[in-house]
Amino acid sequence: MQAELTYERVRTGLAGLGMSAALDSLDNVLEMARVDDSPAVDVVDRLLDVELKARNDRRFETNMKLAGLPYRQPLEDFDFDAQPSIDPQLIGRLATLHFLEEGTNVLLLGPPGVGKTALAVGLSLKAIESGHRVFFIACHDLVGRLKKAERFDRVDRLLSTMLRPTLLVLDEVGYTPLDRAEATFLFEVVAKRYDRRKPMIVTSNKSWGAWGEILPDQAMTAAILDRLLHRSVTINIQGESYRLREHRKAGLIPSPINTQKGGDDQPLNVSNPNR
Ligand code: ADP
Ligand code: MG
Repeated sequence: MQAELTYERVRTGLAGLGMSAALDSLDNVLEMARVDDSPAVDVVDRLLDVELKARNDRRFETNMKLAGLPYRQPLEDFDFDAQPSIDPQLIGRLATLHFLEEGTNVLLLGPPGVGKTALAVGLSLKAIESGHRVFFIACHDLVGRLKKAERFDRVDRLLSTMLRPTLLVLDEVGYTPLDRAEATFLFEVVAKRYDRRKPMIVTSNKSWGAWGEILPDQAMTAAILDRLLHRSVTINIQGESYRLREHRKAGLIPSPINTQKGGDDQPLNVSNPNR
């Protein structure tokens, strides 16, 4: 009788504390303990383990949704042999996520298809798995959101969205030039995150020297690059597009090909299902 009352109290307690995963597995854990004749501390340990795992999973899924990653390719699936211009040890060091604490920006430069977004996604996944908030946005989408925010007088809100996450990924800077209002907003994001030591991952098809072509003037370009580069790692990726390489391996296009055209998103007239 006493045991039944205690059991009911435990159920009510778990429910009251919102420990629904522990509550769901309570009977199993107790049965397991009875069969194994395991000590009471094991029961507590198992219940906490179930609850913590469930909470981590929930947090991961929530943060994944908020992050808006374009796909879920883990860093472990990145084929370093295919892209010898990338130092796997450097990526390995970034994967430890020290750069998040240091506020070091990671700048991935190179022609289309060489894995810039894939690396940004892989590092983002690592950050989300560790419980960090990440926000991923392509530059042209940011421009679209800024236009909308201006119409509805919500630019401040958009700015907070860009400043709040531990890691902000700004993908594909450089395909379209930014006007003064857009560049000013970008400057604000970069400068405020810099002041708060909150890192960004930026990918671009343009070298630093060519950023003047996408920003309205020299002073703005210098101001943005100054903050972006001060605490940063730049990874210059050269070589062939991974997609085209796969096409070529499959015999769909002839070899050799020239991938060093810089800035041309469709260097060959191959139908590309990923674009
Ligand atoms: P970009 O440099 O244009 O951002 P992506 O990172 O989007 O290129 O790469 C294009 C496609 O090829 C993606 O589907 C990506 O997952 C894949 N990819 C690129 N490089 C690699 C690589 N080294 N290993 C595995 N997949 C890769
Ligand atoms: Mg990309």
